[in-house]
Amino acid sequence: MNQSHCPCGSKKQYNSCCQKFHNGDSCLTTVDLLRARFSAFIKHEKNFLVNTHHPFYVTPQLISNLEDTSFVPSNLKIIKVNQGLASDTEGCITYSFDYLTENGKESYQTTSLYSKIGDQWFYVKDT
Ligand SMILES: [Zn+2]
Repeated sequence: MNQSHCPCGSKKQYNSCCQKFHNGDSCLTTVDLLRARFSAFIKHEKNFLVNTHHPFYVTPQLISNLEDTSFVPSNLKIIKVNQGLASDTEGCITYSFDYLTENGKESYQTTSLYSKIGDQWFYVKDT
């Protein structure tokens, strides 16, 4: 795998993919935000993860959890997208990814809820 490929799995270069979001551009869709947050875990862009988490759900516990850089997901697969386009104010994405545990690689599937405040998408919670 090419090291400069974006870790979100888009097969684009990082500097023409999620890097612009990590540098402050707004995500137009929930898919952009999911990919940018996914690659932020791998790139340790903690501030981006905090800033794109719905403010109602940002707690000291969350921020300290994000200090833990041992969580390194890989192999993002988007399974189902509900709404979440630029014209929407809410959206859900079902997706899966792999991560390493003491017992080897495991897969995890979840559905995340997103909400828009102003023109900015936020991750709310997993449903
Ligand atoms: Zn990307």
